[in-house]
Amino acid sequence: NGILGFTSLLKEPGLTGAEQQSYIDIIQKSGDRMLNTVNDIIEISKIETGQVSIVQSSVNINSLLRSIQSLFLHNATNKNNKLLLNLSLHDNLCVFETDEIKLNQILANLVSNAIKFTDNGEIEMGYYVKDSHIEFYVKDTGIGIAQENHQTIFERFRQVDMSESRNYGGTGLGLAISKAFVELLGGKILVDSEVGVGSTFRFTLPIISVQQVVENVEVDEQESYNFSNYTILVAEDEDANYVYLSELLAETGATILRANDGAMAVEQVRMNPNIDLILMDIKMPVMNGLEATTVIKNMRSEIPIVALTAYAMSGDKEKCIAAGCNGYISKPLFGDELLREVKFYLVK
Ligand code: ADP
Repeated sequence: NGILGFTSLLKEPGLTGAEQQSYIDIIQKSGDRMLNTVNDIIEISKIETGQVSIVQSSVNINSLLRSIQSLFLHNATNKNNKLLLNLSLHDNLCVFETDEIKLNQILANLVSNAIKFTDNGEIEMGYYVKDSHIEFYVKDTGIGIAQENHQTIFERFRQVDMSESRNYGGTGLGLAISKAFVELLGGKILVDSEVGVGSTFRFTLPIISVQQVVENVEVDEQESYNFSNYTILVAEDEDANYVYLSELLAETGATILRANDGAMAVEQVRMNPNIDLILMDIKMPVMNGLEATTVIKNMRSEIPIVALTAYAMSGDKEKCIAAGCNGYISKPLFGDELLREVKFYLVK
C-alpha cells in the first residue's frame, strides 16, 4: 500500500509541492521497510539452509559503533531518545578479528529495536572486555519485556504480543538472525528486562586477536566531484537502476555509457579504448556481471571494475573479488558512497 498506493496518488494532477513531498516520504519509508523485510527473509533462509559463512577481518569496534550511532541518530532523536556510546577501549587498542558485516548487523538490529520500543528515553550501546571475550550491550529505557517472553523473542517470527507488536511493524526475525550470527561467531546472546523499566541485550564474542590500529582515514564531507575527463561504463539491465545511477553521476560531468547485459559490456570495452571505469551489476541476462568481469579483466586488466549487488551478503563480496572486481558496493546505493568509491578508482 505504502509504495504502490502512494505512487499512484503521486500521478494525480494538481498536487501541491508539500503533498508531493509527504507522499514521497511515505514511499521512501515503505521502501525501506520492504527492503528490511526482504533482507531478513533472505538472511533467515540462508541461516536455515546452512549457507552463511563467516568472513573474518580486523575490525575497529569503536569505529563500527560510531558509524551505527550516526546511522541511527536521526531515528533516535525523532522519538526524543538519546543515543549514547560507551567505548571502553582506546581507539588504538580496539581492533579485533571478527566478521564485520555480521557484527554490524547484530548491533544494528538491537539498536533499531531499542529505538522502536523506546520513547523519550535513553539508549546506550557499548562493550566491556572480560577475560577471553568481549561483551557488547545495547540498553534502553523503553517498554521492557515480561520474563515469560525472554526466551521466545529469539525464535523466528516471534514478537511479544503478536497483536500489539503489529503496531510496531517488523517481522519478528531480527533477534533470531542476531542469535544465529552470535552463535556462529562463537558467542552467546541474552536479555535482561523488566516491563516499564527497559531492556538490556548482551552478547559475547571470543577475542581472537588484538592489534594496533592503522590511522583512521579522514573523510572529507564537503568533497566535490569532477569526473569530466573520464568515461564510465554502467553495465545495468534495469532501466530504473540505470537512470538513478546516471543521475548520480551526471553532476560530475563524466561521460556515461550503458551496457544492458554482461555481453554488451564486454563488447563496449572491445570497441572503446576510452573507458576508465566500469560499474558492473552482477545479476544480468545473457552474461552475468561476474562472467563479464572475468572476460574484461583478461582483455584489459587495468580498467577498474566496481561490482553493484542487490544485497549486502559477505559471500557475494568474496565472489566479486574472486571474479576480478576491484571494489564492491551493495544496493541501495547512496550518492556519496558511490561517488567516493568512483573517485577512489578513477582519480589516481
Ligand atoms: P521485530 O523487531 O521485527 O518484531 P525481533 O526478532 O527483532 O523482531 O524482535 C522480536 C520481538 O522482541 C519484538 O517484536 C518485541 O516484541 C521484542 N523486543 C525486541 N527488542 C525489544 C526492546 N528493546 N524492547 C522491548 N521489546 C523488544
